[in-house]
Amino acid sequence: MKDIELPRKVLVGDGALEKVCELVSELNLYGNSLVIADKNTAQIAGKRVGEELGSVSHVIEGLMDEEIQKIIDLIKKEEINYVAGVGGGTVIDITKVSAFHSGKPFISIPTAASHDGITSPQASLKGKQPVSMKVHSALGIIADTEIMRKAPPRLTASGCADAISNYSAVLDWKLAHEEKDEYYGDYAATLSMMSAQIVMYNAENIMDEVNILVEALISSGVAMGIAGSSRPCSGSEHQFSHALDMICPKPALHGEQCGVGAIMMTYLHGKDWEKLRDSLKKVKAPTNSQGLNIGEEHIIEALTMAHKIRDRYTILRGGLSEKEAIEVAQATEVLG
Ligand SMILES: [Zn+2]
Repeated sequence: MKDIELPRKVLVGDGALEKVCELVSELNLYGNSLVIADKNTAQIAGKRVGEELGSVSHVIEGLMDEEIQKIIDLIKKEEINYVAGVGGGTVIDITKVSAFHSGKPFISIPTAASHDGITSPQASLKGKQPVSMKVHSALGIIADTEIMRKAPPRLTASGCADAISNYSAVLDWKLAHEEKDEYYGDYAATLSMMSAQIVMYNAENIMDEVNILVEALISSGVAMGIAGSSRPCSGSEHQFSHALDMICPKPALHGEQCGVGAIMMTYLHGKDWEKLRDSLKKVKAPTNSQGLNIGEEHIIEALTMAHKIRDRYTILRGGLSEKEAIEVAQATEVLG
């Protein structure tokens, strides 16, 4: 049986935030609400949402695990009926997980187009051992492009790279289907691939046309909802990124790492990695270790351990040796 979860209503456009009350009533959400933001996103939009909805507010300050527990307690204490997450990836992830554990619906209000987690039914929890967990999809999404356009360009570029990295994720999924007879959904795979291609095709002007990127990221989230897992948008390039998160003292942004990973994994698949790399360059996302500000030794270590991150069959198969890792990183100019 397939279990497909999708958002029910998505508002994208300049000034979309003004419609927050309408969205809430259309979704039949009522009673006490809780708005979650961090210090910065509270100023950008969180306070406004809280005032409009008359919500209890919570500002994230500490570690992810602690914040999730605090919010779960708060939801109980204040008899909260629904939750709104206003912010970037971490805020939205904390919102998803707390809402999931409390059995409450939530709406996602991303303030930056930094990765596809803003819309997907998956949450990644950062900690000593990063884990990805399946949660519920947001009931509604408000992507106010006026706000998202003002986000730091590095975040937007990272969102582009995350969408572009769908390319190698889909190649991995297909491979797992061919070699391991894993379930493969043509529709979800095509939708995910299309998100990558649309961003690549519009790479030149996407920093101004943020709505194209937002739609690509939302479609990625929908692809994951249809597949019932992160498979269409997360393959070996994501394993590489998770490995970097574990071993680097100062990792780069999620999308940035996935983009560089996608260059190398696309090379391993024998596909046009140079075209993918050039698209990353056009959106001004990093394409090598220098751009990520991550040392050579960490790139190699991440490549050799990536296959162990989770039980997911990819082009890395049984894993790369150190020699193979150096070869792929040099051939793709990730290492100079
Ligand atoms: Zn991602």
